[in-house]
Amino acid sequence: MKMMQDAGAKFEKLEPDEMRRRFPQIFFEDGAWGIFEPESGVLMARRAVQAVVAQAQKIGVSYISEAALAPSGGGRLSAVKTASGQTLSANTFVFACGPWLPKIFPNLLGDRIFPSRQEVFFFGVPAGNAQFSMPTMPTWIDSKDEFYGMPDLESRGFKVADDHHGPIVDPDTQPRMASVQAIAAARSFISERFPALKNAPIVESRVCQYENTSNGDFLIDRHPDFDNVWLVGGGSGHGFKHGPSLGEYVAALVLQGGASGSLKIEPRFSLATKQSTQNRAVH
Ligand SMILES: Cc1cc2nc3c(=O)[nH]c(=O)nc-3n(C[C@H](O)[C@H](O)[C@H](O)COP(=O)(O)OP(=O)(O)OC[C@H]3O[C@@H](n4cnc5c(N)ncnc54)[C@H](O)[C@@H]3O)c2cc1C
Repeated sequence: MKMMQDAGAKFEKLEPDEMRRRFPQIFFEDGAWGIFEPESGVLMARRAVQAVVAQAQKIGVSYISEAALAPSGGGRLSAVKTASGQTLSANTFVFACGPWLPKIFPNLLGDRIFPSRQEVFFFGVPAGNAQFSMPTMPTWIDSKDEFYGMPDLESRGFKVADDHHGPIVDPDTQPRMASVQAIAAARSFISERFPALKNAPIVESRVCQYENTSNGDFLIDRHPDFDNVWLVGGGSGHGFKHGPSLGEYVAALVLQGGASGSLKIEPRFSLATKQSTQNRAVH
């Protein structure tokens, strides 16, 4: 709550009776309390990324879709090679490759970024029931059971996901079909928390991955072997919403030179703080 106060975000602290009154479709145990943020919303990630690319192209950015190969050697990097044989020259290179970073830089990041399997389910809501749609149902996070989700947006279903870190996976080869265990965990959770959805059908599922660092904080630092190569990632399951401010911060850092420039690398984002055993401190 202190962070929200400091940020000037509007919120209300709600006791169980008030939560039950406002959200009868959710089961709240005695002693539970909640934070309601009336100005919160939802970001549509796929559309947002496409809009950023379109806007960047409009102002003259060249966008190409290529797989960069890991640079070798050290010092000042003049170009990177791509898997299709192109050579891309630049003054500065930023590798922001999410859960693929440890595959591109296995010696440096192989044991510092842990891609974990995460499964997401969309439950069909009962016909004619508006309790699980906007504006009756807000986006929610259950910090006791570590599940979160969203109302039935765009008639896609009621989203439910387990925020516990799943097994460590390779993002290129992990199976993308929902697992029996995750289905059972999600169903058990909604049966208790959203009793009206106990028998709701799963209408869609997605399997993706978090790109966790040891403490859950970002990695934003120079590559130790290259003067002009930056590593940006480690969103640890919460990277998307930070995109706009992170982009501004990284752009300023890169342009002003980081350690040698006027804007310094934030110590908690440094490579040195990324350990090889997970000890999640940021949620
Ligand atoms: C189930 C789930 C729920 C989430 N919920 C939230 C949420 O509610 N809020 C939130 O803020 N965040 C959330 N996240 C996390 C968020 O999606 C990530 O933190 C964010 O997408 C990371 O952005 P990124 O740009 O660092 O990496 P990515 O989005 O992973 O992008 C990396 C890109 O690099 C590309 N790439 C890989 N290898 C190469 C290569 N060799 N050369 C060039 N390109 C390459 C990939 O194709 C990919 O496009 C969630 C993630 C999951 C899986």
